[in-house]
Amino acid sequence: MDNETWTDGENGPVPTVAVVGRPNVGKSTLVNRILGRRAAVVQDQPGVTRDRIAYDAEWAGKNFSLVDTGGWEPDADGIGAAIAAQAELAMRTSDVIVFVLDARVGVTAADEQAVRILHRAKKPVILVANKADSEKQEADIAELWSLGLGQPRPLSALHGRGAGDLLDDIVEAFPEEPTGSLKEEGPHRIALVGRPNVGKSSLLNKLAGSARSVVDDAAGTTVDPVDSIVTIDDEDWTLVDTAGIRKRVKFASGAEYYASLRTQAAIESAEVAIVLLDASEPLSEQDQRVISQAVEAGRALVLAFNKWDLVDEDRRYYLEKEIDRELAQVAWAPRVNISALTGRSVQKMAIAARTALEGWTQRITTGELNKWISDLQAATPHPGRSGKIPKVLFASQVGIEPPRFVLFTTGPFDKQYQRFITRRLREDFGFTGSPIDLVIKPRE
Ligand code: GDP
Ligand code: GDP
Repeated sequence: MDNETWTDGENGPVPTVAVVGRPNVGKSTLVNRILGRRAAVVQDQPGVTRDRIAYDAEWAGKNFSLVDTGGWEPDADGIGAAIAAQAELAMRTSDVIVFVLDARVGVTAADEQAVRILHRAKKPVILVANKADSEKQEADIAELWSLGLGQPRPLSALHGRGAGDLLDDIVEAFPEEPTGSLKEEGPHRIALVGRPNVGKSSLLNKLAGSARSVVDDAAGTTVDPVDSIVTIDDEDWTLVDTAGIRKRVKFASGAEYYASLRTQAAIESAEVAIVLLDASEPLSEQDQRVISQAVEAGRALVLAFNKWDLVDEDRRYYLEKEIDRELAQVAWAPRVNISALTGRSVQKMAIAARTALEGWTQRITTGELNKWISDLQAATPHPGRSGKIPKVLFASQVGIEPPRFVLFTTGPFDKQYQRFITRRLREDFGFTGSPIDLVIKPRE
């Protein structure tokens, strides 16, 4: 079959599954196992060139296209660069990514490089620990949780052990609508939210100079018909639910309820929520509610104080006080002062959004985290409880967007100490603009 042969099913595109991993981890063996025949040529020496090939495959009545990205000759930049490029491509062109590593070898530097790329994937990534020929390897495989790619699936591609379960997982991860091949990912997604009259539609109009309507032609992008692409500070952003911002729908009753539902939906389909606040008026309960919605949805957060043209010395003084008093729980969110009317500092929103997205996707290695937590406990231990001091046994950042930490402990941790850990994480590592999810798992 030809290089880059992308298959469509009878009813349009079928999901594409890319198998990525270092040479010699068993990608071709896995592909053959899935196809149930010896279609891909398996080479015993590592690094033998093969073309990237797409095969028609089927499991549980579902057709899909299986892409073997094996045979990447590491170029001058080495195996790490090659596998990174392979991962990038898979992310852009497939619906599900199967990342294979060798359970006997463990995680290599090249694997780690690929993992860093794959963390950015908006597609499901299935982590496969191949060459787990017997149950003996299971304990080592559990360690792969710390890669932050979810549950590691043990597999023996050679003998078939775990293959059925893996295929079930792959089929389960298929999207409702396959993206089709070679589709680019769209720009980062922003939800512009806030209570009525804070200036959302004014701001949208200000940005509209650059707004490209995507209502008519969404092909090749991830944009929904109600989204717009706008350019802020020379970067494209997808503004979600533009219709909701633009339309001044007045409901006979329950208007607030619908507005709140719409806000929720917009936040959930975005990566970063920019909550607009009216700087000229006291913060309201409604403002707080919108902020909480963004935090609880686990989105990156930017606070934009609009109508700054109306803020004088006096008001600024009181606003500072209000912020200290009422927004302490989101002190980590970047703040920008803007005016939708004059266009003041609107481009700063983009800088803030980029900062927040960085915090939202930030990652600490397991080694660094455990060293940090043991230093922290040595300096400031958890308060004693009937003579015993609960301790962290092992810590791992298990996810991003937002960063999520699991602490395996000798006993329960009180809320205050958990807040202390979160605060210190921010002081020492940043995580600007992102909620932090901390999970305590006391030993039984
Ligand atoms: P890739 O081309 O890098 O994806 O890897 P291959 O499919 O060529 O496999 C590399 C080598 O690993 C071959 O000698 C395979 O027979 C061997 N191999 C693949 N899967 C397994 C497995 O599950 N268990 C064992 N023991 N060997 C395997
Ligand atoms: P929305 O309900 O959040 O979409 O708010 P609008 O965009 O409809 O704005 C509500 C009111 O605030 C309108 O009268 C706008 O002209 C006004 N407004 C919006 N932004 C600004 C601003 O930056 N400065 C001033 N002075 N007024 C603004």
